[in-house]
Amino acid sequence: MATRLLLLRLFPRAVRATAPASIRAMSAGGIPTDEEQATGLELKSMQALKRGEDPYNVLKPKKYPGTREEPHIVPSIGDKRLVGCICEEDNSTIIWFWVHKGDSHRCPQCGSYYKLTHYELPH
Ligand SMILES: [Zn+2]
Repeated sequence: MATRLLLLRLFPRAVRATAPASIRAMSAGGIPTDEEQATGLELKSMQALKRGEDPYNVLKPKKYPGTREEPHIVPSIGDKRLVGCICEEDNSTIIWFWVHKGDSHRCPQCGSYYKLTHYELPH
């Protein structure tokens, strides 16, 4: 290392010309971005997020008020799904009920509306 630094100081052009290609490429190109390093599922997920899609549920789900006009959305791959409603923030009990495909369903305790939407698995 010390010899290389001494030679670089004395003959800078000669030493740089003999440096390995990998060292020159890294010093010239900088640090690769996440998109340049991503492969496989991570790359597919990043490309989908750029298109505005979220096939792997990476993002936080959107919140709905739970009214008749804007019910809570319940994604499902089938025709029904079991839903647990914590009606109030401090409740220690969960009200369980089935939400079926079609019209929105109402929680029997608090009255919030839930609607089932079809969810297609990405793979
Ligand atoms: Zn409820």
